[in-house]
Amino acid sequence: MPLAPPERTADVLVIGGGNAGISLAARLHRKGIADIAVVEPKSTHHYRPMLSYVGAGLRTTRQMSRPQHRVMPRGVRWVQDSVRALDPVARTATLSSGERLGYRDVVICAGSAPDWDHVPGSAEAVAGPHASTNYTVELAPKTWELIRALRRGRALFTIPDGPAPTPQIGQKILYLACDYWQRQGVLQDIEVTLLTPTGTLFGQPDVDRVLQPWVDRYGITVLTDAHVRSIDAGARRLHATVDGTPRDLPYDLLHHSPVHAAPAWIAEAGLGTAAGGEAVAGVESTAGPGTSAAGYADVDPHTLRHRRVPTVWACGDAAALQTTSSGGGLRHQTKVLAANLLATREGREPTARYDGYTVTPVTVQRGRAVFAEYDRDNELAPSIPGVPLLGPSRVLWFLDLEFLPKDYWNVILRGF
Ligand SMILES: Cc1cc2nc3c(=O)[nH]c(=O)nc-3n(C[C@H](O)[C@H](O)[C@H](O)COP(=O)(O)OP(=O)(O)OC[C@H]3O[C@@H](n4cnc5c(N)ncnc54)[C@H](O)[C@@H]3O)c2cc1C
Repeated sequence: MPLAPPERTADVLVIGGGNAGISLAARLHRKGIADIAVVEPKSTHHYRPMLSYVGAGLRTTRQMSRPQHRVMPRGVRWVQDSVRALDPVARTATLSSGERLGYRDVVICAGSAPDWDHVPGSAEAVAGPHASTNYTVELAPKTWELIRALRRGRALFTIPDGPAPTPQIGQKILYLACDYWQRQGVLQDIEVTLLTPTGTLFGQPDVDRVLQPWVDRYGITVLTDAHVRSIDAGARRLHATVDGTPRDLPYDLLHHSPVHAAPAWIAEAGLGTAAGGEAVAGVESTAGPGTSAAGYADVDPHTLRHRRVPTVWACGDAAALQTTSSGGGLRHQTKVLAANLLATREGREPTARYDGYTVTPVTVQRGRAVFAEYDRDNELAPSIPGVPLLGPSRVLWFLDLEFLPKDYWNVILRGF
């Protein structure tokens, strides 16, 4: 029996009210699309780049949070619920409440979430007394407690070997922790190790060159081609393969950056990347075979329109864009997606293209930061032409800590 028509419809349905969803909805509304609905379950919106500073004790979770209703663009409907299934043929989304929402175009902006199963024992470890992660709002304050309490011993920092938002952002907390320990006069009693799946420190030669002096200065051991296999929280040991060789690393403090997974309903709707298929956000520079790269929204990484279903679009952490995802990259993506969606409404081809621009701001010490800006080909992509790699400088520190949060709340989320 055919399903009854959906209870409500939207011209454009945006799934997820995070960085991608809100900035895109605001932009589309500004450009003349009147009937937009955003499905978002959470009552609080977070500026997630601030998580690194929360983990470093420089900001609080309160400072990175606003009520969701305050960031919802005027004139856009907020449906406070979550999507549990999408039917791209019937063009409906089924919500957790059971309600079905119809749409003309849908944009998947639902982000990604830590895949704790990727590293057995990792969930237990970060829940325990010696490990943490800045990747969740709940745990970032604990990172600071652990850093502050450590006076001697072994500290491990991991980089995910699969998709994750700004996968190299773990280097930000690494240098900030070392800077703190150095200022406290205890760094010489702490053995600091970074495990990264990349072949070099950052995986981009120019960025490597800028960061290496800081690694030397803090005496950090860098293990490249390192893949975390499991964590034994009770024994405080991390098992990894480094250059193909099994290693067993004890720790007194662990900052773990988890591999992420896209929401399961994307794949269940037949809209996801296949296992072993296209590279997805964050994978090409960091992943080895067998990472959980499947299931991200399988859009054309240039136009952000789905490869098989033209009424489906995606951007942000949930999309397979063949570059590492970041909030900085999203600013470029929402412009492209909005232009292309509007073009198709006028019967034109979607010709705007996203070049894969992404950015990882790395604070090398309190007061100095580097902006690693690069594109899909792993080439530097400076925002200021002629200045190939920005930093390390005080201006960038100020920009990252003070200016960008204000820009986020007042400009980016308003669709500019
Ligand atoms: C620790 C950390 C540090 C970072 N640092 C930086 C940085 O310094 N610079 C930078 O540029 N980027 C940084 N990023 C990356 C940046 O925050 C993300 O790339 C960006 O937030 C992605 O936005 P998004 O909207 O795609 O996903 P999100 O911000 O995760 O938003 C997704 C939204 O979708 C909602 N949702 C999920 N499932 C459903 C569902 N089924 N139905 C409806 N809604 C749903 C969620 O509740 C959420 O609100 C960092 C990220 C982290 C985690």
